[in-house]
Amino acid sequence: MISGILAIVGRPNVGKSTIFNRIIGERKSIVEDIPGVTRDRIYGKAEWLTKEFRVIDTGGIQLADQPFRDEINMQVEIAIDEADVILFVVSGKDGITMDDEYIARLLQKSRKPIVLAVNKVDDFSQNDAIYEFYNLGLGDPIAVSAAHGIGTGDMLDEIVKAFPDKQQKEYEGMTRFCLIGRPNVGKSSLVNAILNQERVIVSDIEGTTRDAIDTPFKREGKDYVVIDTAGIRKKGKVYENIEKYSVLRAMAAIERSDVVLVVIDGETGIRDQDKHVAGYAHEAGKGVIIVYNKWDAVDKDEQTMQKIEKEIRAQFLYLSYAPILFVSALKKQRIHTLLPAIDEVHDYSVLRIQTNVLNEVIMDAQLMTPPPTHKGKRLKIYYASQVSVAPPTIVLFVNDPELLHFSYKRYLENCLRDAFAFTGTTIRILARERN
Ligand code: GDP
Ligand code: GDP
Repeated sequence: MISGILAIVGRPNVGKSTIFNRIIGERKSIVEDIPGVTRDRIYGKAEWLTKEFRVIDTGGIQLADQPFRDEINMQVEIAIDEADVILFVVSGKDGITMDDEYIARLLQKSRKPIVLAVNKVDDFSQNDAIYEFYNLGLGDPIAVSAAHGIGTGDMLDEIVKAFPDKQQKEYEGMTRFCLIGRPNVGKSSLVNAILNQERVIVSDIEGTTRDAIDTPFKREGKDYVVIDTAGIRKKGKVYENIEKYSVLRAMAAIERSDVVLVVIDGETGIRDQDKHVAGYAHEAGKGVIIVYNKWDAVDKDEQTMQKIEKEIRAQFLYLSYAPILFVSALKKQRIHTLLPAIDEVHDYSVLRIQTNVLNEVIMDAQLMTPPPTHKGKRLKIYYASQVSVAPPTIVLFVNDPELLHFSYKRYLENCLRDAFAFTGTTIRILARERN
């Protein structure tokens, strides 16, 4: 489970991206493996002690040709809006600068926990330099040398401690969903269309953890919440249209959701950016539904839907499990299919298969098509167990985990889908050595 988001702020050249790289360690960028999805250098995933969290380097979000103060205002604002913990980086080589003081003043106004890292303290026998940073009024400075990997463990201890305990799930008992997609694909129109349907009762409880305006509502006795509609509705911030920012925003919303609606603009068709955000939803293991909006604006004959479906499948190979809905927010076409699809996908993502039934399916699969041999050895699956949900995660106890190849995994996944459907959710299959 992800504990939350850490945002790194600080003036240029203090070592933010060096620290970012240290924190995400040897882990690969989270969507690197997905074809057609580019690696993002500002957003990563980290693990320390038993906690997992996301990391944003706000220094990578830049306005074109803006004065420094505007840039830093934006970065700090994004950090305060999106993060659970803020890591403020300064340089022990330079001492406190006016820009550091300026950033400190902005941060003092936020209620988010702040960890102050004094970077470039390469020689720990001379770490007296850090004391002057008490003057920033942000608590105890921690000496680090990101370049040499010194002190980063202590820094991570402090970061992990600062994350709020999220024992209780946000919006317990409610189905949390969000809509992601490029600007103008129709996300806010869709939200409005969903909320304006018959028998939808919008409640007035405010969103809890963030300043974002989440919208809780009820329909036919079921509780839902649309996550992060503020990002959709509150237009007009200067940085709203920076792609990196909107991607980041989408990722924060994905993290807090059970089901993600990937919205595609039927008028313009599929773009690379669509694949990028959809890749994060997949990687995060969330339920996914592909919503092809503006269906009213598409030139159609009886073949069009099939043709587009085929194209979507070809473009989003890794989302083969996601249902596709063709809708029009403008003409209110098939809007009523959205909530039932969200329910279905959510139900599947938290489905627990009885152990004996699961084993029957896996053993049958193994009998029908035995695993191929590899260097004279053959994979043997002894036992299967579903260890978690959202996404459903299945552990196979085997003779040698190395022998579970991608293609056989894919075959087992198909057998599981034949048996249990698991519509809209990815299935994780892991192998462990039986001992
Ligand atoms: P950013 O602009 O804040 O993201 O800073 P960078 O991570 O790009 O680092 C700026 C410069 O400081 C680079 O030349 C780094 O190699 C250097 N740097 C980063 N961390 C350290 C450190 O711990 N010690 C020293 N001496 N240099 C560092
Ligand atoms: P967002 O930026 O993704 O939230 O997109 P909006 O909901 O603001 O919609 C962007 C534009 O697309 C607006 O002009 C909408 O009227 C238009 N739009 C939204 N849904 C539809 C639709 O189903 N059909 C058509 N033809 N236009 C739509």
